[in-house]
Amino acid sequence: MAKILDGKTTAAEVRSEVASEVARLKEQGVPVRLDVILVGEDPASLTYVASKERDSQEVGIESKVHRFSAGVSQEVLADLVGRLNEDAAVSGFFVQLPLPEGLDTMPLIFSIDPAKDVDGLSPESVGRLAVGLPSLLPCTPHGVIQLLKRNGIELSGREAVVIGRSNLVGKPLAQLLLRENATVTVCHSRTRDLPEVARRADILVVAAGRREMIGTEHVGEGAVVVDVGIHRKEEGGLVGDVRFDEVEPRVAWISPVPGGVGPMTRAMLLHNTVTAARMGL
Ligand code: NAD
Repeated sequence: MAKILDGKTTAAEVRSEVASEVARLKEQGVPVRLDVILVGEDPASLTYVASKERDSQEVGIESKVHRFSAGVSQEVLADLVGRLNEDAAVSGFFVQLPLPEGLDTMPLIFSIDPAKDVDGLSPESVGRLAVGLPSLLPCTPHGVIQLLKRNGIELSGREAVVIGRSNLVGKPLAQLLLRENATVTVCHSRTRDLPEVARRADILVVAAGRREMIGTEHVGEGAVVVDVGIHRKEEGGLVGDVRFDEVEPRVAWISPVPGGVGPMTRAMLLHNTVTAARMGL
């Protein structure tokens, strides 16, 4: 039977460290505040933002949500980004994605001060990650690395296969695994013979966004499997990119959905906020 990469427990550990650091900074008079730009009424975005607000409050981080209707202009949002960049009371902020149609995401993200870019998506953050300089790291890939390391999984010298090459997950995760001295292969929708490549992995991270696409044919005996995918089931509840029940008996470790990478992503946002607050000293 596989051991479970329990994101809830590991995220609680991260949150508790963040809470101590927030308290320490506050004692020194350093504000720790996370702002969110939320546009439109997308139900998933509303839920995510509400949970991020709750998480922040729990660890003592002040939070403020700037809400706009879907019809807001690009200029109004750009102006707000400029003001948040300048506001010393704001440690970090992010734009909740996706933005409604008609708004241009890239210029907004690219104008966020890298020192406040708690999503780690600005070109400077991406570049610093690529050349191995300290930066605010994208929350999901950083959460995956923390989930593995904090559960004692060795990365150095091991064969890691990442399925998915998005800017949000796959690419930065490959960079982080390289930084940990893993031997990294990145697969995507054009990869020939995905099962054959995936089976080579000591550590298989799946971020393809395809519901339950990964089965036993993709995993080697004793592998570590991290499932980043999130899909809502019609009957309620969540499921990942991996067929958990089928894969679990074959592998050494596996992360569940829900309760795996999701809680880690949320915890790393708090971690980035406190790091940004410290950097702003
Ligand atoms: P994306 O759609 O931007 O990228 C998916 C990637 O997977 C692409 O690079 C594509 O080439 C690859 N891919 C698609 N089908 C494939 C196939 N059949 N074989 C091999 N590769 C294939 O998605 P994303 O933003 O990277 O998100 C991936 C998944 O992770 C989604 O389910 C998303 O909801 C989830 N997600 C979860 C968290 C979390 O906190 N747990 C955070 C972000 C994203």
